[in-house]
Amino acid sequence: MVSAVTNAAELAANTYVVVGASPQQEALVRAQIQIIQPAIFPLRIIFVPHWKYIDTARIFRLHVPTGYTSAIFTHLPSRTVFVDKDYESDCRLGDSLAHELGHMATNSTKEEDAERVAREYRNRLKGAHEGSILRPSRCIGLSLH
Ligand SMILES: [Zn+2]
Repeated sequence: MVSAVTNAAELAANTYVVVGASPQQEALVRAQIQIIQPAIFPLRIIFVPHWKYIDTARIFRLHVPTGYTSAIFTHLPSRTVFVDKDYESDCRLGDSLAHELGHMATNSTKEEDAERVAREYRNRLKGAHEGSILRPSRCIGLSLH
């Protein structure tokens, strides 16, 4: 029984799928999630071209304000994270991902609930080595808030 639970946890950690990302984006996302060790793992992370992102947001009845820069959102019931492939800078991806995983951990659509958890997740990411895939040198100095 205990090992079955352990296996289930490992499955949750390792079996999420990343769709539509470049090999670099997928490697980055997987490295970030491994460091974050979220309480609840996503089931899928889908990178979509901008036009499709807007379309997808509309299907889920989400308001995407004009000039919205953090082009990433979570559909909680399906534990799916959508990322605008054309707009999300990889330097900011971990920051944004921490926020979305905060929504998932709290199962809440409220921004303050997500941020409460995201702060801890971002601290875990900050411990990553400079120059590694998680903190490429070109990103260092860009503030993570
Ligand atoms: Zn949010």
